[in-house]
Amino acid sequence: MGLTGIQILGMLPKKNCKECGFPTCLAFAMKVAAGQADIAACPYVSEEVKEKIAEASAPPIRTVKLGSGDHTLAIGGETVLFRHEKRFEHPPGIGILLSTDMAQDEIEERLARFKKLRWERVGVKLKPEVVAIEDSHGEAGKMAEVVKIVREKAPEAVFVLMSEKKDVLAAGAKECGEHKALLYGVTLDNLKEMAELAKETKFPLGVKADSLGEAARIAEELMKEGIKDIVLDTGPRGIRELYEDQVIMRRAAIKKRFKPFGFPSITFPFRFTDNIVTEYMIASVLVAKYAGMIILSDFRADLLFPLMVERMNIFTDPQRPLVVEEGIYPLNGPDENSPVIVTCNFALTYFIVSGEVEGSRVPTWLLIKDTEGLSVLTAWAAGKFGADTIAEFVKKCGIADKVKHRKLIIPGYLAGIKGELEEELPDWEIVIGPREASGLPSFLKEWKAA
Ligand code: SF4
Repeated sequence: MGLTGIQILGMLPKKNCKECGFPTCLAFAMKVAAGQADIAACPYVSEEVKEKIAEASAPPIRTVKLGSGDHTLAIGGETVLFRHEKRFEHPPGIGILLSTDMAQDEIEERLARFKKLRWERVGVKLKPEVVAIEDSHGEAGKMAEVVKIVREKAPEAVFVLMSEKKDVLAAGAKECGEHKALLYGVTLDNLKEMAELAKETKFPLGVKADSLGEAARIAEELMKEGIKDIVLDTGPRGIRELYEDQVIMRRAAIKKRFKPFGFPSITFPFRFTDNIVTEYMIASVLVAKYAGMIILSDFRADLLFPLMVERMNIFTDPQRPLVVEEGIYPLNGPDENSPVIVTCNFALTYFIVSGEVEGSRVPTWLLIKDTEGLSVLTAWAAGKFGADTIAEFVKKCGIADKVKHRKLIIPGYLAGIKGELEEELPDWEIVIGPREASGLPSFLKEWKAA
């Protein structure tokens, strides 16, 4: 358990000097306890106290960072078992498998899929992040060669280098430079030399165990060696154990604060099936429970897209709705005669409405009013999308300078505010649009024809 605000307050100098940016030491202590302020902001706290607080407030699952700069992938950092308790912090990294004995053409084809299979949905970019390279014959030069190709063709890729041989991982790590790779392949036999490599490179280590117990033992030994960044593979024997191991590790880390399991996991669903559809189904379970990384045998657009969407949905913050910015959105190249539609800024509403309008090919001005991410009816009920607030927004947003006409289309669900809105906007004719976005294309086409 982390420290409470009162416990943290007991360690502060209680000068109430405001130098930390908070009005009192108590206010600062509460924010530190909630993870919303850094203890280092108080200049009067000793290093010893800082360490104590940092240790006590660290998440039960350590955050491990891979890559570098703009291409950094963070995994772990989780604090809850269930998303509704707070939120899940870091989506699992999703990766494609290469091996050192693959022909160059095959490697390039896979990298082309890695780069091509990207989508945007409700304003969020969906893309895989990881390239895993498996050592086939223990050749250090081959590993370095493949890493070099990936660095050239896909510099954004985060690496998992897979070998039980230190020299092979060292050669790959050297080629990565400052771009941190996961060095996967630590066993009880090579533990000491792998720990040395991790200290030399400052790269995280991936444990390759054959049971939960062995994974805990290796993690414990690595911690004794001073290694902090660890990723765990428990070497499950079947699909059921794969799932169970993830749950056991997460529960032990969060409920019991069992430190050897306080690290993100890495999983390889292809080890349990030859069927790629089954493989992605296993991966979809691992997204929810509780993989830190999922390495797939290959990418297929029709399978990867739903997996990415699932990952996005599970890792959105349930306390914070997805929103788009308030403003005027020109769709299909509108002009001064084009229709004007107003709706709320809940991201899903925006993307459904804009998708339908774009599909209709009718040039349209879409006005997005800030409703704090609430949908049309909820926002109306909360007083954030009523006649007064819509009128105020229409007046200030500048749409009157962009169109000659004065017709405003409102969502069909808000038909009841038409009269009130006409009073608020006497220069405008209020037109009731369809209730559902799916009715927009025919509605707009009729508008155009009129
Ligand atoms: Fe208190 Fe330190 Fe903040 Fe001053 S800087 S108010 S002593 S917590």
